[in-house]
Amino acid sequence: MAGNAPPQFDQHTCCGIVEEAAYRARERREQKQKQPWIVRKLAVAITIGILAYATYVYIGRFCVPMIRIDAGALGRRSMGIGFLVVFCIFAMMIYWSYLKIILTPPGLAKDHVSKSAEPHPSTTARFDDSWEEGLGSWQYEGMTHPTDQPTQSESLPPATIDSSALPATTEKSNVVARNGHAGPGSDAEGDSNAGNLNAIPPVAAAKAAKDLPVEAAAPAQSPRVKPETRSGPIRPTRRPPSTPVLLPECRYCYKDGFVKPLRAHHCRSCGTCVLRFDHHCPWIGQCVGALNHRFFFIFCEWAAIFCIWVFATLLAQNVKAGNSTNLAVSPDGQQIAVIALAGLFMLFTLVMIASHTRLIIHNQTTIEHLGVQRMKEREKAILGNAFPWYQFGAKRRMRKQWDEEWGSLSREGNLWWLGSYRANWESVMGSSVLDWFLPIGRSPMNGLEYRTNPRFDEIGRWRPRREWPEGLR
Ligand SMILES: [Zn+2]
Ligand SMILES: [Zn+2]
Repeated sequence: MAGNAPPQFDQHTCCGIVEEAAYRARERREQKQKQPWIVRKLAVAITIGILAYATYVYIGRFCVPMIRIDAGALGRRSMGIGFLVVFCIFAMMIYWSYLKIILTPPGLAKDHVSKSAEPHPSTTARFDDSWEEGLGSWQYEGMTHPTDQPTQSESLPPATIDSSALPATTEKSNVVARNGHAGPGSDAEGDSNAGNLNAIPPVAAAKAAKDLPVEAAAPAQSPRVKPETRSGPIRPTRRPPSTPVLLPECRYCYKDGFVKPLRAHHCRSCGTCVLRFDHHCPWIGQCVGALNHRFFFIFCEWAAIFCIWVFATLLAQNVKAGNSTNLAVSPDGQQIAVIALAGLFMLFTLVMIASHTRLIIHNQTTIEHLGVQRMKEREKAILGNAFPWYQFGAKRRMRKQWDEEWGSLSREGNLWWLGSYRANWESVMGSSVLDWFLPIGRSPMNGLEYRTNPRFDEIGRWRPRREWPEGLR
């Protein structure tokens, strides 16, 4: 991998140029170094500064003049006391939840796995999942394609599943894939992006679908199903990635030199692999991962509530002051600055709440979600290749047919789908309503063990509906 000569790209085609650009961009990102501690924590200091400034302006320049009944106060004394009490409650919650999130580490893989050689060196498929790539991409270098193997059970290495680890589950035949000291021959381990990643990027996929002969273009939906031969036009088919992502060799981190636990990814800013990596957040100076995702969400909640309160009350009173005929009462410049900051952060935190609610109820991390998006893009490209652009109905019907054959991409096609939105939510946020709002306790997950979707096979490949366990079809 490292030190290999750069691949040759076809400069005479659009795809060749695009692929080369993507390769160069990846190379530049590879060279990015781990950020120094002080750089990573810079935004934390800025955030604390903004919070302290907002607190000073709200109390010292907004509430106190009202309580003292100063000439330039923007409201009555009772109003000042009411604003102050509510503000103190919200301020206490935002400071508390902020301290909790900056002091709770996301969980680091290096604390749980020891260094090891790359398992099965003969297999050279490599997954590059550094988070800035976002989409994750498989690079095949002579890897045996799973469909070349005669049967599913034969393709499994001996110790793929730790059957003693099978728990009683709410959904039938689920498997807890365990992490441990990974290395050659260790227990089944997987990756978060199973079923969501694509073997080839959309452009190349569409090109490949166009260039392939009929037999090859109709993909093997399962290693056990013979590809259908058709005499008519090619029917585009859904082609989920067939990479055995639960196998340790698919999750080796070349930078850290170990097999990553399930759903862990390497953060370039932190320079280490993080458990159930979601994203690197500069505002908290660290990653959001398995052990602090709940606290990150709780912080976003209180930050949004705090911003809404500050924004609404300051804005209302300043507008009133602007319209007032009393010359002693006029809008305050520093309060206007805080209104602008509160408005900005209010929008930002509300967007974060909306997107993370969606991620959590789907039991996906940001990276895993990007994998689904990429799969959707790829399917769009395949449909665009198979139908003229104006045949919207035909494309919609084809997607519907795919969903009937496979299930939906973000639910049945998600390796970590636990069977319901509620189960997914509770796996991240805890089962008690108090857990959803109070920054106390711990994360409900340990970051190492995850139940896998029974619609996937033992090595993490999405199965079509007809192969799902009885009762799930
Ligand atoms: Zn790593
Ligand atoms: Zn990080």
